[in-house]
Amino acid sequence: MDLKSKIREVPDFPTPGIGFKDIMPLLADAEALRQTVEELAAFARPLRPDLVLGAEARGFILGGALAYELGCGFVAARKPGKLPWHTVTAKYALEYGWDQLEVHADAIERGQRVLIHDDVLATGGTAKATVELVEQLGGEVVGLPFIIELTFLSGRDKLAGYDVHSLIQYG
Ligand code: AMP
Repeated sequence: MDLKSKIREVPDFPTPGIGFKDIMPLLADAEALRQTVEELAAFARPLRPDLVLGAEARGFILGGALAYELGCGFVAARKPGKLPWHTVTAKYALEYGWDQLEVHADAIERGQRVLIHDDVLATGGTAKATVELVEQLGGEVVGLPFIIELTFLSGRDKLAGYDVHSLIQYG
């Protein structure tokens, strides 16, 4: 199946000028969902991850499925104040201002191989912050599979030296 046909493009959401890539039609289609998880897993399996880290919020959806498929554990990177235990934090730039992501300080053990997943790679700021979280805890980032990559935003450049993969590209 052409997975791109299952992505809904919503102009001017959430703000004017942004072309939002909505994965909900893809998630709602059983065949497309299965194919997406299988394709992400096919990239990830040879990297032999111990953990999948998913970024809030849409990275949680297939991050969990991917961890199950690969026989890994799952770690949630969340917005500040959501996690109940001790955390480490990474700050990243938004179009206007800053945001932060956190993971539990005991979520990743030194030397563990971590796969980072989110639905969309745009500017790469979110993904770079999750790389920093993993590395603060002594984990090794072995790969970053995304469903969608907005190639015109050059997010890959922020992730130079890491194994970045996407199933669908918009140029
Ligand atoms: P960035 O940090 O710029 O790479 O943005 C990535 C994060 O923002 C991901 O968590 C995406 O879910 C979300 N995102 C950014 N741009 C879009 C877009 N055009 N459509 C859907 N989600 C987006």
